[in-house]
Amino acid sequence: MRVLTILFALGLTLSAQLKELKPGFNLFSPQQDIQLGKEAAVEVEKSMPVVKNEELTAYLSRIGGRLAKSKHAGTFPFSFTAINDKSINAFALPGGPIFVHTGLISALDNESQLAGVLAHEMSHVALRHGTNQATKANLLQLGAALASSGLGGDSMLSKLGQIGVGLGAQSVLLKYSRNAETEADLNGARIMNEVGYNPVQMAQFFQKLEAEGQKDNSKLANFLSDHPTPGNRVAYVEDQNRYLPKTQYSEIDSGALPRIKNIVASLPPPPPPKAAARPAGN
Ligand SMILES: [Zn+2]
Repeated sequence: MRVLTILFALGLTLSAQLKELKPGFNLFSPQQDIQLGKEAAVEVEKSMPVVKNEELTAYLSRIGGRLAKSKHAGTFPFSFTAINDKSINAFALPGGPIFVHTGLISALDNESQLAGVLAHEMSHVALRHGTNQATKANLLQLGAALASSGLGGDSMLSKLGQIGVGLGAQSVLLKYSRNAETEADLNGARIMNEVGYNPVQMAQFFQKLEAEGQKDNSKLANFLSDHPTPGNRVAYVEDQNRYLPKTQYSEIDSGALPRIKNIVASLPPPPPPKAAARPAGN
């Protein structure tokens, strides 16, 4: 009887420790997240050197597909694309498109760390952090911009561009708050645990990048400013792990990463970035 009471009390404490994670206030509908992400992905693919290598694409999709089965990943249509860029970065667009720089792939120690990066980015999508931030930053103008997008043939991206919500550096769609970072870590860890990846690998990889960024920021500047460190990631991910269902951790194909790194290392250098269109004359 006493044991039951203790177990019951323990059960209550355990469930109390798992913070509920759900999308915040948002003027976009989930369908508008998807539309915006689609339009923005077209722009990314026009302006950045997308890697067209079947084995690499299949590798990203296989790991991303396993993660997408988790209920914590939500129902957005995810896609996974590599970009030929030696800087260490990964980013997600609203509604599902996820991009990973080849520099990040070169920095991985194992498949679980890649799963961690993808699960973290998928969590920004599932928790709708980009459009939540755009909502908070542009509350007054946003309703009208959204209501009129699609009218007169204007894309959502161009309507949002008129009120200053774009894809450039410092975009509210890609630059997350520390609070959003913690949520993406915790939700990403739940995704990983549910499908059988060790969540601590994600936190360890991010901490490794943060430590490297302190020594030499040159390859990591964008990543660290878009995903600001929310503190000791390993500590709070390990802490949450104690309350997650126990699962057996495994990788799909541990031996594949060295091959994938070779593919990445042998890619020709990307063409110089396209110069931004400038108005003629002075
Ligand atoms: Zn992040």
